[in-house]
Amino acid sequence: MRERENTEKRIKELRDLIVKYDYHYYVLSEPLIDDYEYDKLYRELLSLESSNPEFDSPDSPTKRVSEQTQNHFEKLGHKPKMYSLDNSYSDDELKAFHRRISESLTEKFSYTVEPKIDGTAISLIYNDSLLQSALTRGDGETGDDVTSNVRTIRSIPLKLNSLIEGELIVRGEIFFTKKRFEKLSETYSFSNARNAASGTLKLQNAKEVSKRQLSALIHTVVTPLAPTHTESLKKLSELGLPIVSVFAEAETVSRLIEEKNRFEKDRFSLLFETDGIVIKVNQLNLREKVGFTNKSPKWAFAFKFTPERAMTKLLSVDFQVGRTGVITPVANLNPVEISGTIVKRATLHNFEEINRLSVKIGDFVEIEKSGEIIPKILRFVPEKRVGSEVNIEIPSHCPSCKEKLVKYEDEIAVRCVNKNCPEQIELSLIHFASKKAMNIENMGPSLVRRLIENKIVSSISDIYKLTKSELTKIDRIKDKSALNILKAIEDSKNRTLAKVIYALGIRNVGEFASLKLAESFQDIDSLANSRYDQLIKIQGIGEESANAILLFFENKTNREEIEKLKNSGLRISHSKSSGSLTGLSFVLTGTLKNFSRNEAAEYITSKGGMVQNDVSSKTNYLVAGANPGSKVERAKSLGVKIIAEEDLTIMAEEK
Ligand code: NAD
Repeated sequence: MRERENTEKRIKELRDLIVKYDYHYYVLSEPLIDDYEYDKLYRELLSLESSNPEFDSPDSPTKRVSEQTQNHFEKLGHKPKMYSLDNSYSDDELKAFHRRISESLTEKFSYTVEPKIDGTAISLIYNDSLLQSALTRGDGETGDDVTSNVRTIRSIPLKLNSLIEGELIVRGEIFFTKKRFEKLSETYSFSNARNAASGTLKLQNAKEVSKRQLSALIHTVVTPLAPTHTESLKKLSELGLPIVSVFAEAETVSRLIEEKNRFEKDRFSLLFETDGIVIKVNQLNLREKVGFTNKSPKWAFAFKFTPERAMTKLLSVDFQVGRTGVITPVANLNPVEISGTIVKRATLHNFEEINRLSVKIGDFVEIEKSGEIIPKILRFVPEKRVGSEVNIEIPSHCPSCKEKLVKYEDEIAVRCVNKNCPEQIELSLIHFASKKAMNIENMGPSLVRRLIENKIVSSISDIYKLTKSELTKIDRIKDKSALNILKAIEDSKNRTLAKVIYALGIRNVGEFASLKLAESFQDIDSLANSRYDQLIKIQGIGEESANAILLFFENKTNREEIEKLKNSGLRISHSKSSGSLTGLSFVLTGTLKNFSRNEAAEYITSKGGMVQNDVSSKTNYLVAGANPGSKVERAKSLGVKIIAEEDLTIMAEEK
């Protein structure tokens, strides 16, 4: 019984984590962890779900393509659906893939092997050989119409070399070449080439997109042109499309492994970044027989390469105090190059990690980096120890306020608990005013620092009491900029409840969790008075976040701050104004006429309704636009009412 409960708990924990990581990766383009770690958690969830089918759920992130569409583009449906790829880092999984294919096919077949381009997916639709539209993958069923941006990519022909009557659909990858990315990085600060490409493709300014010079390669032919993948790609090349090069055809698993090993060594010579290889059944008619899961084709497999490592010397350790008082040790390293970037620092996470690694200052350490996430130290190299290495001591006092540090029994972290620690106040205020929180323009880190130094503000609520004369007391702030700052502060009072919750900086409560909390509680007082059992039921809220929320609202100073924010006129309720949809849950599918998906979701929540990702027996209505996806079938099978966009507005406005 206990084991069953633990399994269920772990499944919930993994789903919450993955939903959160997906949001940061796909929506914010700011991954919280590296891909290797993410893939490990994902596989753990897959394996728990397959051995415990009683905990299966259509809401699980393993059941859908997670990328999301953006607000400012038209949405168009994909015909057919755009899939992700099943992936793994292990030869055994590759062998299992081959076994599954061999068992499902009696015919002779072969595989193609090609690089997995680390970019962002695109679907191109040609009509009578003219480029008609270009869509991002989105959730696999609906994507963003980014045609005007794709038209700027020189290698994508606007007109094919010869006439193909009717529709021709091909899919591929948009990316920056390594050289181009290096050049762009002199001007822009992107976290990595993949995020840079997906961010650029979703810009609203086609001129800027054109300036950045994206590249493209086609790797998938949807409209049948020839019996095999290789022949189809050849045809596309004749039509003038840029195609991925198939570097091997193979029939046996040993050949696949050989090719993979060879490519792993050679991949740095390519002009673009790759994170693995893609293996596909070459015969298109057999692909149909092998089929698809909800998320990926069963006839293709991505073998990913493990992240790169390097050896260097640990020179010293800095201690940083974070917004919530946690002290983080950060290693300063002898600069070393990994996958083309120079690494100077690595995180040591916490003091338990230092103990676990038994690492000392002066040690040679092995570091690992995947993507552009801050690298981590894997181990010290015992053979390189000379005896003069020095232990890393846990500091006893805060590096900022010099107060004594505290370690609670049930926590790994060492903390500065001084509520007046200047570094923490500064970081909380910077966070509160930041773009993703209250988005107070002109109130960046340097102004916050000066406001604190001049003792004008010492808490977030003080921001709303600022006056022009106080601001102009600060060096270099003239009347006009003071007025701009005050206007930006005033504007920030209109931010949504979700933004306010996020801005409070509660430990373990990120943007996604804040949104879910706002939807669930509707106003700050209900959240402040919430119970553990209510919190833990919410998607994206795990044990740690639930406890952190309770702790936050137990604190008298925090409650007082919230009262002060309320009195300053901040929006502390979830636009429940009319509440005409209160208590009803909706799922959206297809392209709507008057709203983008996000706008429709905001509209529903502003009327008190709830928006879910997938149809379940608890859904009240499925709002179906043009070209709806498979959700319609699901709604029918569950007896969920299907309504049109017009019905939604009538219901919301009349009720
Ligand atoms: P993916 O990027 O691993 O693979 C699928 C994509 O590969 C396809 O959509 C396709 O466009 C592309 N592709 C590139 N070359 C191809 C080729 N030659 N043939 C066919 N397709 C090719 O999958 P995904 O669903 O886009 O992303 C999932 C992955 O993203 C995860 O495995 C993980 O590594 C990463 N991720 C990381 C985080 C994080 O927090 N670090 C969060 C979410 C996802």
